[in-house]
Amino acid sequence: MKEGRRHIAIIGGGMTGLAAAYYLQKEIKEKKLPITYTLIESSNRLGGKIQTDYTNGFIIEQGPDSFLARKKSAGKLAADVGLSDELVSNSTGQAYVLSNAKLHPIPGGAVMGIPTELGPFMSTSLFSPAGKARAALDLVLPRKSGSNEDQSLGRFFRRRLGDEVVENLIEPLLSGIYAGDIDRLSLMSTFPQFYEVEQKHRSLIFGMKKTRPKSKKEPNKKPSMFLTLKNGLESLVHKVEEQLNPHSIYKNTSVKKVTKEDRGYMLTFVNGETLYADAVIMTTPHNVTAKMFNNYSFMNSFHDTPSTTVATVAMAFDESALKQELNGTGFVISRQEDFTITACTWTNKKWPHTTPDGKVLLRCYVGRAGNSRIVEEKDEVIVKTVLDDLNKIMKIEGRPEFYRITRLRESMPQYTVGHKYRLEAMKSRLKSELSGVFLAGMSYGGVGIPDCIDQGINAVHDVLEYSKVE
Ligand SMILES: Cc1cc2nc3c(=O)[nH]c(=O)nc-3n(C[C@H](O)[C@H](O)[C@H](O)COP(=O)(O)OP(=O)(O)OC[C@H]3O[C@@H](n4cnc5c(N)ncnc54)[C@H](O)[C@@H]3O)c2cc1C
Repeated sequence: MKEGRRHIAIIGGGMTGLAAAYYLQKEIKEKKLPITYTLIESSNRLGGKIQTDYTNGFIIEQGPDSFLARKKSAGKLAADVGLSDELVSNSTGQAYVLSNAKLHPIPGGAVMGIPTELGPFMSTSLFSPAGKARAALDLVLPRKSGSNEDQSLGRFFRRRLGDEVVENLIEPLLSGIYAGDIDRLSLMSTFPQFYEVEQKHRSLIFGMKKTRPKSKKEPNKKPSMFLTLKNGLESLVHKVEEQLNPHSIYKNTSVKKVTKEDRGYMLTFVNGETLYADAVIMTTPHNVTAKMFNNYSFMNSFHDTPSTTVATVAMAFDESALKQELNGTGFVISRQEDFTITACTWTNKKWPHTTPDGKVLLRCYVGRAGNSRIVEEKDEVIVKTVLDDLNKIMKIEGRPEFYRITRLRESMPQYTVGHKYRLEAMKSRLKSELSGVFLAGMSYGGVGIPDCIDQGINAVHDVLEYSKVE
């Protein structure tokens, strides 16, 4: 690169783009780098999938509701912008899985569905004796050694634990995270740690038991795994935005095309205006990004990567409308069941700060891989469908006081088998043919909020390395 002031464009103002902008600005300030940046977002707000609604004293998450505490970058970003005092942990009540038309407590000690404690596993009504015996075979089955070639999560878990544990527990739990088809999702791009456990310990049950962290103070207490912010996840978005240079943020600006020039890149916006950048961090969904580079067919590597369309349906009730005690935090649903909803969080129990006293907040998901027609139905139809489903297992009288339906179209990229290798190949082509363009975000290296923040930070390191004055 030649000497002089550099300009870096960050396209997409979701959590990945925000984290990239925040940490890039920090580096520029701290190291007095001759760099400017622009964060470009097509909509009128930052945050992307993160959106919080505040109605009648409720705090309603319309997209994600929390993040994994053990992945540190999200908590750190909150602390960096001054929100560490506002981090809230989830209440740890019983979670259930709906199978054979009944709610079964998720057996104690199950880690992503893998049993690690004998007692709760033997006594659960979730599996038949034959299903339990098949799962116990994991203790003696040999490891599948050799190559670390990718395979589907379904294939991996069925081989180790059998179909029943997969269908009744692992699949519903994993679908809750990826809204995906366990028989298509990649093991290596979603849970490579389970592959490592098999390689190291042979048995998943034994290996997870050995590696599972235990609270030293209260070994029998279920630890909180998730964090959110007391004023909603969007408060993190606002706080990050507040600390960015307002002149560096373009909202309502949709990038149509990115064209390679002799030196850097020319961004063309939908309104016809252009902006020059020496380097670009792309944080838009993979299908949007591919269109911006339509002269480069390798950018279509993820063309076949489907993204599931889902909707969140939050419903607020007076306590008196629920005719039974909600004893827990919610449930996921086996795909064998005749239900349209895929999961339901009893939000007032899991996150008490979100709900005024005397009220109940239920948040359900609809839409799944291969079938998301329900999402396009009218609000009335969705509310009725969700209430009908809930009333099969809960007793709810009347309609919600109000509801919020948020349709998130093509919002959950599916890391299908081979994702990791496609990503590596694409990054290597990028380096040789579009140097100075960096990819980050939920389409690539992890869908969780902390994964997105990590990718934003990594993109900043890469772009600064690339922009070094020679
Ligand atoms: C329903 C749902 C529930 C979830 N729950 C959780 C959860 O509880 N915990 C968790 O950790 N994660 C969760 N996730 C995942 C998490 O929300 C996402 O991975 C993360 O928010 C994605 O951030 P991102 O910046 O990569 O993408 P996005 O948020 O999609 O941001 C991309 C941005 O690019 C913008 N854009 C698009 N096209 C253009 C263009 N042409 N020009 C300029 N800008 C453009 C978009 O408007 C958007 O703002 C959930 C996701 C969904 C859909």
